Amino acid sequence: MASDEVKKELNQGSKETKQDQTKNTTDVDSNQQSNIKPELDSNPSSDSITAQDYISSQLELEREAKELMPYDPNQCTYSMGAIRQQIYACLTCLAKTGQTSGICYSCSIQCHSDHELVELFTKRNFTCDCGTTKMNHPCYLRSKIFDDIPSSSNSYNQNFKGHFCDCKQLYNPIEEKSNMLQCIFGETCQEDWFHDYCIMGLTHYEPPKQKDHGVNKLDQLGEPEIDAATQNIKNEEDKKEELMKNDQQEEENGEPVLDGFPNLDDFDCYICWKCINKFKDFFDKIKQNNDIVVTTVQRIPSENLQERNSIILQNQDGTFFKKRKIDYDYSIFLKTNYEENFKTLYNTTNDTTIKKILDEFQFLMNDDPIYEPPNDDEIDPEDDDNSSIYDLGAKAINSLPREQAIQGVQAFQDIKTKLKDFLAPFAQDGKIVGKDDVENFFKNIQK
Ligand SMILES: [Zn+2]
Ligand SMILES: [Zn+2]
Ligand SMILES: [Zn+2]
Ligand SMILES: [Zn+2]
Ligand SMILES: [Zn+2]
Repeated sequence: MASDEVKKELNQGSKETKQDQTKNTTDVDSNQQSNIKPELDSNPSSDSITAQDYISSQLELEREAKELMPYDPNQCTYSMGAIRQQIYACLTCLAKTGQTSGICYSCSIQCHSDHELVELFTKRNFTCDCGTTKMNHPCYLRSKIFDDIPSSSNSYNQNFKGHFCDCKQLYNPIEEKSNMLQCIFGETCQEDWFHDYCIMGLTHYEPPKQKDHGVNKLDQLGEPEIDAATQNIKNEEDKKEELMKNDQQEEENGEPVLDGFPNLDDFDCYICWKCINKFKDFFDKIKQNNDIVVTTVQRIPSENLQERNSIILQNQDGTFFKKRKIDYDYSIFLKTNYEENFKTLYNTTNDTTIKKILDEFQFLMNDDPIYEPPNDDEIDPEDDDNSSIYDLGAKAINSLPREQAIQGVQAFQDIKTKLKDFLAPFAQDGKIVGKDDVENFFKNIQK
């Protein structure tokens, strides 16, 4: 399979560099990891780097990924029953059996590694299906058993067929540009993921606007001429300073978001409008509670942001036009310590609706831990035949806060795939990769 190919290239690459240490490999590597914003230094000795150096930097990436996700993938969670855990959907097994199923972290690595998997992140109350009659696939971690009884309490939404959000799109980490959020309530959507623009009711993806966002930084920096006038050098300095300021701002403001959408750093969890509609009495009562809710976002069907904004204005003036105000569906964004504040509310309120819902959905008030497989203390990616860069990278990303996770997966796979395609011809001919090649490569991935 493709991942084995990559692995082979990596190992060759690493042997090569051990004998022939080349400068700046690590610089290039950290640029890849900082995702899409490389700033190559202008030191002449870094003008050319062989493809092998690049490939070996991928091995480093793999090692770091494994350090971040050091789980020992040797225990299937089937016997633990329904728990909150990382789940993967296997599309290969789905095609074979026609039945949706989900497997645990370890089984994704040990039993279905050569199958097409979709990472679903966490699901509550889920029992691994590997080795049950549902999958008809032996679980190697449970003595190749294949006819165990599947859980009767597992529920499967469209995610298990690779579809996500209200728009039912297939998730493509390379193409996906929007922010996606998982609904933590899940009573209606079963913890589905939603595009930010779909949450707002927009029909299409719109890139968020931000000053200088998307501007190619390599272009801006340029290369100072050898005989450049002082003024030119000063300009370069100014530009660099400006760029650093922009970077700082970007860090302070976090990822750019759509106009009218909360900053990703400003909330902890998301609850979708579908789940809210099912328990509208309850959510209508808590949506104004500032201790629990950061903000709500209305789902206003519209072609674009401009149309959406004008609908909002019209709706505010609704009484003026003698039209009835429309109550749009809405999503809720929860504050960081919403659990504590839900608990306080529970203990102080006499409202029976609120009490009843909080009784039923205890996870709103109490910590709802995600099962983590035991740690793997001996980490040596070169000896681990089951690891592939993508698997490990994807797993490393699981430990990120959930609203960043999907973006991380996108960026990681995006770079990995493109870098591999870019390097293949160079590696084949043992050709030197020139600085121009490198700059072009990074220019392209920034698009
Ligand atoms: Zn399992
Ligand atoms: Zn499978
Ligand atoms: Zn298994
Ligand atoms: Zn969508
Ligand atoms: Zn939901």
